[in-house]
Amino acid sequence: MNSLHSLITLAGLSILGLTEPSPELQQLIPGVTSTAALALRFVLANTGTSTAFSNIASTEKATDNASTIEAAPELTDAERACFYAVIRQFETPGEQFCTGCSNCLPCPKGVDIPACFRQYNIDTVYGVKAHAHGAYLKLPKNQRASACIHCGECEARCPSHLPIMEQLEQVRTRFESPQA
Ligand code: SF4
Ligand code: SF4
Repeated sequence: MNSLHSLITLAGLSILGLTEPSPELQQLIPGVTSTAALALRFVLANTGTSTAFSNIASTEKATDNASTIEAAPELTDAERACFYAVIRQFETPGEQFCTGCSNCLPCPKGVDIPACFRQYNIDTVYGVKAHAHGAYLKLPKNQRASACIHCGECEARCPSHLPIMEQLEQVRTRFESPQA
């Protein structure tokens, strides 16, 4: 399930418009040009998978998907090894990952907990730092991590049992400290 979640998240980064792979992905998989292409090729390389649905919101994305399949339908052994290295890297922090389910909401102070964690993960796990920082600062101040008053209501509702208050502190330090 974590592997699937990792790939869905990979694809999600491209849905965000982040078609350029992060430096981390480029380092692990030399020559990669598109995060969506990576995710698509991985999904189709799994035995038993005959069809992959992709979020095609534009002609450009449809063309990118089609050229991905035409150019390199099969993964090489080296590429497959790189994919699993990426997934293993994601699985470790994934045990403490927010899934974005929103069960922790509403926060009495209005903190948008999943939005805070989403940008934190995009920054720290996927290395898309400038985008994550900018997106976080677009949140209204009352929705940011610094608005948390540590009442603990959210933690009792989180099905992943995340230490939300502690992790929000990390988010605040990352995005709202003077040196951020
Ligand atoms: S602990 Fe913080 S984020 Fe959680 S419900 Fe209370 S104020 Fe909101
Ligand atoms: S309930 Fe837990 S996993 Fe779900 S959005 Fe809130 S913090 Fe994330």
